[in-house]
Amino acid sequence: MTASASSLSATRNAESASPSALLPHWVECNDCGLMQTLPEPRRGHSRVCRRCRASFGHGFNRRDTALALALTALVLFMLANAFPLIGIDLAGRGQTVRLGSGVIGLARADDDLAPLALFVLAISIIAPLGRVAALGYVLTHLRGSTRPRHLAPVLRFADVMRPWAMLDVFLVGALISLTKLHDLAQINVGIGMWALGLLVMALAFFDMSADRRLIWDLIAPPYRSAEPPPPATWLGCRECGLVQQMAERCTRCRSPLHRRKPNSLSRTVAYVVTGAVLYVPANLYPVLTVISFGRGAPSTIMGGVKELMSGTDWPLGVIVFAASIAVPLLKLCGLGWLAFATMLSENRRRLVDRTRLYRLIELVSRWSTIDIFVAALLTALVTLGNLATVEPGLGVLAFGGVVLITMMATESYDPRLMWDSAGANRVRTTNV
Ligand SMILES: [Zn+2]
Ligand SMILES: [Zn+2]
Repeated sequence: MTASASSLSATRNAESASPSALLPHWVECNDCGLMQTLPEPRRGHSRVCRRCRASFGHGFNRRDTALALALTALVLFMLANAFPLIGIDLAGRGQTVRLGSGVIGLARADDDLAPLALFVLAISIIAPLGRVAALGYVLTHLRGSTRPRHLAPVLRFADVMRPWAMLDVFLVGALISLTKLHDLAQINVGIGMWALGLLVMALAFFDMSADRRLIWDLIAPPYRSAEPPPPATWLGCRECGLVQQMAERCTRCRSPLHRRKPNSLSRTVAYVVTGAVLYVPANLYPVLTVISFGRGAPSTIMGGVKELMSGTDWPLGVIVFAASIAVPLLKLCGLGWLAFATMLSENRRRLVDRTRLYRLIELVSRWSTIDIFVAALLTALVTLGNLATVEPGLGVLAFGGVVLITMMATESYDPRLMWDSAGANRVRTTNV
């Protein structure tokens, strides 16, 4: 048995030594609000909500593997920053970009694009690096028998970073940038690009090997009881999952406790309306202007899609169309419909399907960032003076606004409210 397996079983033994470990483990579903018991983990079986089929995770931690992957990811992250991702060569002049070059490219191109440069910095560097460093730190400390108090805020930080860490989307954006350039100049794929590909794979395997709910339960034990918790005064923490008595803050992760996300519907509608307004200039104004040997014209998002569709790169055109046009529309229409349907009716029909629609929006939401990464990389890479330049347009700023606002709309909507309004939950919700 390995050292970490010993410490894991020591923790489990300590828990199983108490009689309460034999009692049912209670959880509240974050998607439908049903309080239920969590089945014990079984190899090859995923645990899902018995009402809306939301995942509760597989319940196993391969902690040594997860820790090794976190450390590997940190090394690959440094390599992707230290070595060029893409290089171009045109008539003897060359330029290369690294992982952080897009941020500098946008900031240098236009003062108005500084907020977009900050957004790209947050989602391509700060969030992924912060998340993997925080999780690696927590996993290292969980190897010991003590649980320092600061582990909970560190793990909470990793959870907050999770939806904003978008290196996988960045990788697809880098591949599309390569395709857009092959007619313009000679392209070289650098060591940084290989490091980025391996980094994305390491992060995906890391997520598979570490169960977030179990990590929280190792920091402080879950709620176990023979009787269901009283629904009027007890609830599950949305952030760490601990079922507890209503209080101002969670006793485990210290995040504020709310029965439902505060002002969920009004905030969602406000974000959807703002996103819909920004969607118009995002599609009307050019996102990029490619000038090669003095010739070139501004291109909108749809113009970029048409250009990719017209050649042999049409599969990439389909990806960009889906990510930049279809996904933002799905988010705006889907969330708007979910919010109004929850507000205006006590509709009991298709509650599971509507909850699935929300989960689909949550899943695909981040992929609409692809075009922003393409614009950032091309702006930083194609700076060859009279030979060729790429300049970002105002459209990319508006599109960045659409992406940010629709992600905030997705975060604001609380799918449990549609189950409440249909009378499926015996809780009274106010201030929604
Ligand atoms: Zn559920
Ligand atoms: Zn909590």
